[in-house]
Amino acid sequence: MTAYQIAVLPGDGIGPDVTKEAVKVLEALKQQDATFNIEFREFEWGSEYYLKHGHIMPSNGLEQLREFDAILFGAVGDKRVPDEVTIWELIMPIRKNFQQYVNMRPIRRLAGIESPLKNDQPIDFMVFRENAEGEYSNIGGRLYQQQSQEMAIQNTVITKQGVERIAKYAFEYAKKNNKSKVTSATKSNAIIHSMKLWDEVVEAVAKDYGDIELESNFIDALAAYFVMRPESFEVVIASNLFGDILTDLGAALVGGLGVSPSGNINPEGEFPSMFEAIHGSAPDIAGKGIANPIAQIWSAALMLDHLGRTDLSTAIVEAIEQVLQEGKVLTPDLGGNSTTQQVGSAIAEKLKQLV
Ligand code: ATP
Ligand code: MG
Repeated sequence: MTAYQIAVLPGDGIGPDVTKEAVKVLEALKQQDATFNIEFREFEWGSEYYLKHGHIMPSNGLEQLREFDAILFGAVGDKRVPDEVTIWELIMPIRKNFQQYVNMRPIRRLAGIESPLKNDQPIDFMVFRENAEGEYSNIGGRLYQQQSQEMAIQNTVITKQGVERIAKYAFEYAKKNNKSKVTSATKSNAIIHSMKLWDEVVEAVAKDYGDIELESNFIDALAAYFVMRPESFEVVIASNLFGDILTDLGAALVGGLGVSPSGNINPEGEFPSMFEAIHGSAPDIAGKGIANPIAQIWSAALMLDHLGRTDLSTAIVEAIEQVLQEGKVLTPDLGGNSTTQQVGSAIAEKLKQLV
C-alpha cells in the first residue's frame, strides 16, 4: 500500500509543539488501521532558519514541497524577523504557487466546549475564505504630494475568475453536504467597484444551484449576526480580509484559537494543500509546553478528509470531543492544567478505542 507523503513544517514558537502532537495522533492511527499508511518529512524552515541562512526557505523550497500529497504547517512568527519575511517569503509563496485559493475554516462547537454566548444552540458551519486575491495584495504604495502631505494607497484585486472559483467550491460543498443556504459577506453599498463585482459573480454562480438559497449580508451586519444567531449559518463565503476577521470572530464563539483548524485547499489537486491551526506562533506561551494542540490535531483531521480518509478524519474529531467532554486532560486556555503532550497523548489513546 502506498503511503501518503506529508511535508511537515513545524515553524516557530508553539508551532513545533502542537505539530508534534498532530503527528503523534496520525502515527497512532497508522498503528491501529492496517489500511492506512503515512510518512512524514520535516523541513526546518522558519525564523531560526532565516536568522542562520538569510532566507526563510531554500530557493528550490517550493519544488521540494510540490512532491508531497499534503503539507502540515505549524506557525511562523518571531519578533526578530520582520512579518514581511514570514508572510511574503514563506506563507504567501506556498499559498499562491500551489493555488490554494480556498481557505476552509470550520466554525463548529465541539461537544465539551463552552461558548461565551448564553445561547446554547449548536454552532456548526463552514467558512470559505478567498485566499489568493482580494484586499491582501501588495499593489499600492506611498505618495508624497507635498512634504507635509503623505498618502498611502492599497489596492484590492477582485477578479471574476477568482470569485467564481471560490463561490463554486462553496456551492459544491453545500450540495455535497445537503446544506440549504450559502451566506455571502459583502459591502457593495460602500465598496462600489470590487464588492459589486463580487456580488454579481456570486449571484451568477448561485443560479446553477437552484435548491440552495443565497443570502447576502453586509460584513458589518454579518459580524453582528455571527454573535446573535450563529446557529443560522451553514456555509459562508467571504473575501480575504472579511474572511480573516469573520473566522477569528467565529473561533471566539467556539472555544478560541486553541481549538480552531484550517485548510488551504488547491481544489484541483494539482498541487499539495496545506493544513494549519489558525493561531500564530504565540510567543507569549512558547516553550512553556501549555499550548493547546487540538487546533493542529483537528487540522490534521481536515487533511485526512482531503486525502480521502473521511472515516479517520471523523474518528479524530470524535476522539477530541471525548477528551473535551471528560474534561480531565485540558490545557490552561480551556481551564485545565495539562500539558500539550498530555492532551496529544489522551487523544491518541482515545483513538485506539475508536478505530
Ligand atoms: P503570530 O504573530 O505568530 O500570529 P500572535 O502574537 O499573533 O503570533 P497568536 O498565535 O495569534 O499570537 O495567539 C494570540 C493569543 O492566543 C496569544 O495570547 C496566545 O497565547 C493564544 N493562543 C494562540 N494559540 C494558542 C494555543 N494553541 N493554545 C493556547 N493559547 C493559544
Ligand atoms: Mg496572530
